[in-house]
Amino acid sequence: MLLNLSRRFTTFAVLLVAMLNKLKSSFFHKCPRCLEGDMYADMNPYHLKETANMYTHCPKCNLNFIPEPGYFYGAMYVSYAFTVAVSVAVFIAHYLFSWEQGTLFFIIILTIVLAALAPYTFRTSRAIWLNFFIKYDPELRKKVLGGS
Ligand SMILES: [Zn+2]
Repeated sequence: MLLNLSRRFTTFAVLLVAMLNKLKSSFFHKCPRCLEGDMYADMNPYHLKETANMYTHCPKCNLNFIPEPGYFYGAMYVSYAFTVAVSVAVFIAHYLFSWEQGTLFFIIILTIVLAALAPYTFRTSRAIWLNFFIKYDPELRKKVLGGS
């Protein structure tokens, strides 16, 4: 019984760490395989001339970030889901704090929020899409960290 609980906790801890690694890679735009290399030359998505300037390979582990032409078309679906989630969050905030302002106010606020988040959404969608297909490799990360 106690051994079984210990195994379950270990499995839960491993899954939690894996999930945190995916979140770090997705939301901080790090290489999904080594979690060390940056995906973009300029890490600030609000430098708009550089927003789409993505490395072709990870500078740390040489993972190919663009495995085939049109690879990131699928990121549009992620972007759509991300935008819907933000819209729902803005709607809930509107409902809780400024419901009496009306629908037009909500639409204006939503437009401003989505426009302000667009560069970050663009990059995060690509990172999440890449994370769907690339597995984290802790051994490779140790090599990358040891080599630098
Ligand atoms: Zn890497």
